[in-house]
Amino acid sequence: MFDAIQWDADLIRRYDLAGPRYTSYPTAVQFHDDIGPFDLLHALRDSRKAGRPLSLYVHIPFCAHICYYCACNKVITKDRGRALPYLEKLEREIEILSRHVSKGQVIEQLHFGGGTPTFLSHDELRRLMQHLRKHFNLLDDDSGDYSIEIDPREADWSTMGLLRELGFNRVSLGVQDLDPQVQRAINRLQTLEETRAIIEAARTLQFRSVNIDLIYGLPKQTPERFAHTVAEVIALQPDRLSVFNYAHLPERFMPQRRINNEDLPTAAEKLAMLEASIEQLTKAGYRYIGMDHFALPDDELAIAQEEGTLQRNFQGYTTHGHCDLIGLGVSAISQIGDLYSQNDSDINNYQQSLGNAQLATRRGLHCNADDRLRRAVIQQLICHFELDFRSIEQAYAVEFRDYFSALWPDLQRLHSDGLIELNDQGIVVQPAGRLLVRSLCMLFDRYLNEQVRQRFSRVI
Ligand code: SF4
Repeated sequence: MFDAIQWDADLIRRYDLAGPRYTSYPTAVQFHDDIGPFDLLHALRDSRKAGRPLSLYVHIPFCAHICYYCACNKVITKDRGRALPYLEKLEREIEILSRHVSKGQVIEQLHFGGGTPTFLSHDELRRLMQHLRKHFNLLDDDSGDYSIEIDPREADWSTMGLLRELGFNRVSLGVQDLDPQVQRAINRLQTLEETRAIIEAARTLQFRSVNIDLIYGLPKQTPERFAHTVAEVIALQPDRLSVFNYAHLPERFMPQRRINNEDLPTAAEKLAMLEASIEQLTKAGYRYIGMDHFALPDDELAIAQEEGTLQRNFQGYTTHGHCDLIGLGVSAISQIGDLYSQNDSDINNYQQSLGNAQLATRRGLHCNADDRLRRAVIQQLICHFELDFRSIEQAYAVEFRDYFSALWPDLQRLHSDGLIELNDQGIVVQPAGRLLVRSLCMLFDRYLNEQVRQRFSRVI
């Protein structure tokens, strides 16, 4: 099952379609505004009755500088005073939601994302964690997965010491590219030394895992320069690595308008960067988990994949897919049982709602039976590269081949092209199909049409 990825440029050209990353199915594009606070509270009541463990996501939207490639929900400001009013609203949200959760529901997973979570001062971070601990059942024996995104330009040893003391045991560092020319073109100047200092602090303070994010396809990148970045990052020995494709969509994301089209690498150069980085990472002992993610073999994600327990949620690959996920903060998404719900994406609206002691839930959807079935199929393929028809038939009381009969010609085409092995028992994604697993998942996506597809980037 863990054969190396087989690189097939011809297949990649033919099957690399724009599509979702499937951190959820249905994807957030399908959310509608008939979902509100009542639906969220109702779902939380069911979660409490079932006693399901919880995962918390906390969104801190502020950044002191703009990165030109950014497609996140963030607020660019140098005014640190903006954090406090936001923190107060977050605290209101924590108080309201925690009333609908039982103390028996343990917080197995916690993630602070952004923006830049360490935009908050040390006192503010301490205050936020105290508030979370007061209202939710956070573990205090270091057995939970408590992670935070770090911008190495906005953190130092003392920040890392504080985070460890507050209970964080995983960090994810944004690096993207180490080359000064690329960094200038994306307006993100960050030295290798800054990144190394944070990693050394994480190791010394016994954080359990360090993740680094890289992006290929950025302006001024060349295959040679990117290979150099990858080599330097490998030398830092992160436990996990994400290598994302930069999707240049300036019509949707304002900051990207500051990137010169002429500075972008060609499609052929991007392919070369991806191929070389996979080779470098594989040689260095990293395992391809799927969808842009790599991990060392002793990392929990790699082990979970081997044991068949890996899952995927809004935080990407996870070992906590069995938890209900509560999203806190502007634009944050919750996934509670069959409900997806999302907070207002406008910080003023978010703060105004919570200022009135009302939740800011604005959109979402309830999964129906068909969504649940397709979600299980997509999860299985994207996490494990194989699908046993019988397990789906037993869990969802359908005859797989009948249910998906319209897809069979497409599946057979993928089979004859060598992306998958298709037989009466199931599907096994072949090494040549692993980089393209998203295209396989897209076949099972009932909502995908041309218009929806245009909202997504390509795999490569
Ligand atoms: S990429 Fe990250 S650090 Fe840069 S502006 Fe966007 S959210 Fe902020």
